[in-house]
Parts: sequence; structure tokens; C-alpha cells
Amino acid sequence: MISVLIPAYNEEGNVERTAAAVGSTMDKNNIDYEIVFVNDGSADKTWEKMTALAKADSHIVAVNFSRNFGKESAMFAALETAKGDCAVIFDCDMQFPVDTIVEMYRIWEKGGVDIVEGRKKDRGRESFMYKGFSLLFYRLISSTGGLDMQDASDFKLMDRCVIDALNRMPERLTFFRAMSGWVGFRTERVLFEVADREIGQSKWKTSQLIKFAVNNITSFTSAPLQIVTIFGVITFLISVILGVNTLYNKFFGNSEAGFPTVIILQLLTSSIIMFSLGVIGYYIAKIYEEIKQRPRYIIREIVSRREDKDKNG
Ligand code: UDP
Ligand code: MG
Repeated sequence: MISVLIPAYNEEGNVERTAAAVGSTMDKNNIDYEIVFVNDGSADKTWEKMTALAKADSHIVAVNFSRNFGKESAMFAALETAKGDCAVIFDCDMQFPVDTIVEMYRIWEKGGVDIVEGRKKDRGRESFMYKGFSLLFYRLISSTGGLDMQDASDFKLMDRCVIDALNRMPERLTFFRAMSGWVGFRTERVLFEVADREIGQSKWKTSQLIKFAVNNITSFTSAPLQIVTIFGVITFLISVILGVNTLYNKFFGNSEAGFPTVIILQLLTSSIIMFSLGVIGYYIAKIYEEIKQRPRYIIREIVSRREDKDKNG
């Protein structure tokens, strides 16, 4: 059985058609499936739609969060709820093609592959800035984390052993895309075309994307700390040269009052120090957040007819 995991936040217009599309595609291809919907604290009728579906159809499980915890938390909640032999993350807005799930499933079914990863064929209608920025972001994470994350997405089919491995990772600040690469396993790729969102809006704002990038870089790699150290070494070397030069001038040359130089150096060093402190502070904040050991999400209720289904075989 495959579990299709669908995080949803304010997707009242999409829940039903996504469930229908997944259901009919799985039935058509004779694949046993379940759909795990996670309502990530939606403010609209998303939860009502989900419960109605879950009450009517034993294929569907609906999980309700106590508030909006973000897509990351919703994906991990779904992974923990999933009962399938494999699972795939699917967006409620159907920007991922349903048929690709079947393609992934067929590859997994043959055996020998634990992760079938969807890669975006092209990045759809994203702005030039956005593309450049995301390229830079994934380069940084990829090179420092030893992962290949170019054109990665959350659209991934995972075998049970991968799901269990992910469920055992204890960190609070998760980054599914990188974690599912970090765990290893035999991975194969399929390309898919990103469709445009038809109903509702993307939840991303530019400010959130920047936050997302900074957060994920700092929770996934310590590279910025190394960069800061390299900064320190470089400024140290420069200060040695300048220091020797200054002393030389004082004793042998014409030592003038280098007032502008003093000011520039003062500004430069203090801003480098402040910058480095900021970076270190960021990591301390991460440690603080991890050490609180709070749950990644809080579930208010789960609606499902799973038991009926188990009873009827
Ligand atoms: N989503 C979520 N919680 C959030 C934001 C988004 O569960 O806080 C879900 C959303 O409902 C959708 C998926 O994550 O199913 C992808 O979101 P979106 O389409 O906004 O992102 P994009 O496709 O633009 O990257
Ligand atoms: Mg989307």
C-alpha cells in the first residue's frame, strides 16, 4: 500500500479535487492506497472538507493540527501517521502531477530502490531573482552538506525503511528536502513538470523565503561559522601587514597622523565583529530552540475509518 501524504493550509478549494484525483488514479492503476491529509491550522473550511471525506471514505485519514505549524511539521506528522509500505509527499494544490506518483510507484515496486525522487524539469513560472536565489541556496546546502539538491522538491516516494529512518530523527527544526537526502538509501530520479496553481494562492512571501533560506542553512550546515572563521583569518593577516607597515613608518619613515585610516579600520573591524556575533547568535538561537525539546506539532484530532478498513481486510 502507498500512503499519499498531503499537507494543506487554507486549501478549501483543493481538498476534494485532490482527493478525487489521487483516488481515481490509484484505482485505475490498481494500487492500494491511503491518503493522509494534515490540516495545518487552516482558517477556512479545509478541515470540514477533510473530515467529510475521511468519514465517507476509509482510504482517507484526516489529521488536524492545533494551529499552523508550517509545511515541514505537517509533512513529518503525515510521515508518522502513514501506514503504507511506501509514502509520497503530495501538494494539495496539485502542482505535482498525479501520474508521476504512479511512475514513482512502479519504479519502487520493482525493488532495489528506496527513494524515488521527483526533480523539477524546469522551475515553472518563477522570477529570475527567485531562480538565482534558490540556485545559490541549494549550491550552498549541497556543497556543505555533501548532498545533491539541485532542483529538489518535496515530491518524493519513500520506502518504509526511509520513513522509519526519518521518523527516528529527533531534531525540532526539520528540513525535509535535505534530511531525506541525508539519510542515504538507494535513490532514483524522475523528472516532472511543475503545473501552475489553479485555486488559492502560494503561501510564500519573499520575506518568508529569505527566512526559510537562512533558517535551513543554519539548521543544516555549520558552513557560515567556518566562513566567519575564514573572515577572521583574512582580517588578521591584513592587520599584521598593516601593523608592520605602521611600525616601520613610525621608526623609519614619515609617520603622519593617519586619522581617516583609523576611522575606516575601526568601522571595518567593528562591523566584521558584529556580523560574526550575529552568525554565532543565530546558531545559539538554534541550540536554544532544539534544547527546549518541544514537539514539532500538536495534533488536535484525527478522523479516520481506518479501523473499519482493517476489520474488513
Ligand atoms: N502548506 C502547509 N502549511 C503551510 C504552508 C503550506 O501545509 O504553512 C501546504 C500547502 O497547503 C500546499 C503545500 O504545503 O499543499 C505547498 O504550499 P504552496 O503551494 O503554498 O507552496 P509552493 O508550491 O508555492 O512552494
Ligand atoms: Mg504550490
